[in-house]
Amino acid sequence: MTGSLMETGRGARRSRHRRRIIYSELALSIAFTLATLHGLAERDELLSIPVFVAGWALNLLVLAVCCTVPWSRIPTRWVILVPLVDFVAIGLSRAAAGESLPSIGLLAAFPVVWIAASRVGTGAAVAIAAVATLTVVWLPLVLLADPTFDALIDPILLPVMLTGLAWFVSEITRDNRQRQEALRASQAALRESVESGRARERLLGTVLDTVSVGLLAIDADGNDILMNARQREGHAAAAPPGNDDPNEAELLVFGPDRITPVPPEERPVARAIRGEELDAEQVWVGTGRSQRALSIASHAMHDDDGTFTGTVVSFHDVTELVLALQAKDDFLSNVSHEFRTPLTSILGYLELTLERHEDLPDGVAGYLEVARRNAVRLERLVEDLLAINAGSFRVNPVPTDAGRILAEAASSGRVRAERAGLRLVNRAPSSLPAVVDPVRLGQAVDNLLTNAVKYNRRGGSITLDARRRDDGLVIEVADTGIGIETEDLHQIFDRFFRSPSVRTTAVPGVGLGLLITRTIVAEHRGSITVTSERGKGTCFTILIPQPPRAA
Ligand code: ADP
Repeated sequence: MTGSLMETGRGARRSRHRRRIIYSELALSIAFTLATLHGLAERDELLSIPVFVAGWALNLLVLAVCCTVPWSRIPTRWVILVPLVDFVAIGLSRAAAGESLPSIGLLAAFPVVWIAASRVGTGAAVAIAAVATLTVVWLPLVLLADPTFDALIDPILLPVMLTGLAWFVSEITRDNRQRQEALRASQAALRESVESGRARERLLGTVLDTVSVGLLAIDADGNDILMNARQREGHAAAAPPGNDDPNEAELLVFGPDRITPVPPEERPVARAIRGEELDAEQVWVGTGRSQRALSIASHAMHDDDGTFTGTVVSFHDVTELVLALQAKDDFLSNVSHEFRTPLTSILGYLELTLERHEDLPDGVAGYLEVARRNAVRLERLVEDLLAINAGSFRVNPVPTDAGRILAEAASSGRVRAERAGLRLVNRAPSSLPAVVDPVRLGQAVDNLLTNAVKYNRRGGSITLDARRRDDGLVIEVADTGIGIETEDLHQIFDRFFRSPSVRTTAVPGVGLGLLITRTIVAEHRGSITVTSERGKGTCFTILIPQPPRAA
């Protein structure tokens, strides 16, 4: 509440307080005057009794005081003086009028109710009412004569009734006041919680508008319930030209090639509304130079009963990243192409020279052989890079003897293994008919054996095994090498991934071997799995489905 509003509230309360005092006293004064007039009609000498007139005048004086006193400047507890003085006024008039004007005594009900309804406790109100009303009824008796016990008991009904009234009004007032206080407290708590809810909402709004990710919350019927500033911009960028308020189906959303529109029902937001949980779904939105790549994730919301209540969708602008990756791929592809021609020429000349090794001076043939081997490696790397960039390895599965392919891979692997102080055991049957691409399968197994040698320790071993199962051809390459950290396992088939522990070693590699192996296996409609324990070793298992065997 602002300062001026508080002031206005306080001012209104003060004038209400003042009005209450004046009206209460006015009511008594009117009743007093009427009772006096009624008394005059009966006994016209009343006006000649000074004490009676003094009581009446005192009441009128109190009324005048009530009208003039600046109550706002006087402590509230002093107001109690007004009904107390009223008791005196009533007491005086009743003492003067005596039993001939009993209605004057009834006027004591006014100050009794006033005191009972004020902030004094029930006990005090009852005590004041009892003492004051007894004084009012007993005073004339005491003043006029020596009263008998019976004379004192006779008018006792009035004080008893008024004391009861004081108790009753005081209890009701207290009860009312407690209710009001409870109401005020609950209103304050409500105000506080509304205020804190608003503050939280403001904070959430600021946070949502600060993050650089577009956020959209949708209810179960597909209505937007929240959209942050970033997402509003993204939505506008995806709108078709000339349409300022497109619905979800009208937005320009394209697949990875940036030109094929994604059908409305297959769009990430439509799928999220159906309750699907999305993780890094990539689409392009908008057209031309303002086209953006978005990585979209979603998280479904459910109530306590598990009923789907909506979804929150996040839109991460990954345009720069996607363009950078594309630039890198283009660069690699161009460089690889540029490498291929001179490499072919280098290899050709090296092989020609090596064919005439008897003409070469001593030792030179050995050096040239090393140069040829490295050129072959380089050529293989270039081929791999080109194949990976093209996205596929074309395989041509034919009926062949997988046992022979594995034996050849094992024998060239064994040379490398022995050089590294390792033992390579081939447990695969020497003959294992299967339908596979012999060259590509050899390349895949070769990659696994190469890794088993590279990521091993002197004295370790490598085991190659294979068998036919009902579901296909199974090939296993196990080693007792350094193993792979569990958190790296899900990445080892990613392009250019090398686990952090090997990146710092001298072991050569670029992180393409496993990707190539998996691609070859996938082209055979097969699968490759890995199990590994850090420091103990690794086992890769390839499964290539095979046509049912003839009985
Ligand atoms: P490269 O060997 O050229 O680094 P790969 O794609 O063949 O690339 O392997 C990717 C990564 O997986 C390796 O860098 C290594 O960290 C891990 N890795 C692969 N095979 C093994 C293995 N047999 N033992 C331990 N780590 C391995």
